[in-house]
Amino acid sequence: MGRAIVITSGKGGVGKSTSTANLGTALAMLGRAVVVVDADVGLRNLDIIMGLESRVVYTSMDVIEGTCDIEKALVKDRRVENLRLLAASQKNNKTDIQAKQMKELCLELKDMFDYVLIDSPAGIEQGFQNASVGADEALIVTTPEVAAVRDADRIIGLLQSMEINDMNLVINRLSPNMVKAGDMMNQQDIIDILSIKLIGVIPEDQEMVVSTNRGLPLTHDRRSIAGDSFKRIARRLEGEELPIPTFKPESWFGSLFDKLFNWG
Ligand code: ADP
Ligand code: MG
Repeated sequence: MGRAIVITSGKGGVGKSTSTANLGTALAMLGRAVVVVDADVGLRNLDIIMGLESRVVYTSMDVIEGTCDIEKALVKDRRVENLRLLAASQKNNKTDIQAKQMKELCLELKDMFDYVLIDSPAGIEQGFQNASVGADEALIVTTPEVAAVRDADRIIGLLQSMEINDMNLVINRLSPNMVKAGDMMNQQDIIDILSIKLIGVIPEDQEMVVSTNRGLPLTHDRRSIAGDSFKRIARRLEGEELPIPTFKPESWFGSLFDKLFNWG
């Protein structure tokens, strides 16, 4: 039986879909059989982030309604062998899927894969409930902002009420320069508020937006620090004890050097 992990946050735009695509890629690169499931029914975008939108024919809705076999609905990744995507329907609403149906779907996927990563929609309503109902564990994604952390705290409480107690924290878009200037919460502030285990920190990286638009997760870029951060989370999920690096503020000289020699 594989592990079903919901990637969730409460707040929108904090990096749930980005994290799902990158972690799915990183785990598959480690040789695991992985399926990433877009649970953002009506507003899907995981297929775009993974560069697979043109290959989506069927969605989880078709599987649930019984119009298509699960194997047929799984889209094969272009680059990594054992990675699949199960897309969300665009033409349905979040309320069109029942929690029981989602639970059954996850069970079926857990039978086929080592990891079932479920990309949750924002909010605390049925879309979030459906994304979480089949999960054994959760990755809580937050950015270092008061509103995002508060929403994450609310989500942690809701997951506990659903008896999902195995939770890990991902802090995304950390900007060391802003932390140093006292303009951003630091990682210890966030851990103190949320009191769950930190599994990784992803720095702010403009390349992330480029990679999203290109449909090529940064995990594929061997030089990318953000991509490497996702690879480290994947190894920690696999049970490896790896230290979480602290990101240093860029020096004036360092950033000039990077710009001149393009060694970012
Ligand atoms: P969510 O799924 O939580 O709504 P997304 O994963 O779609 O959020 O990310 C929202 C936006 O933030 C995207 O444009 C994405 O490229 C950008 N983004 C995510 N993580 C980072 C990061 N570490 N640095 C810079 N931009 C990021
Ligand atoms: Mg999303």
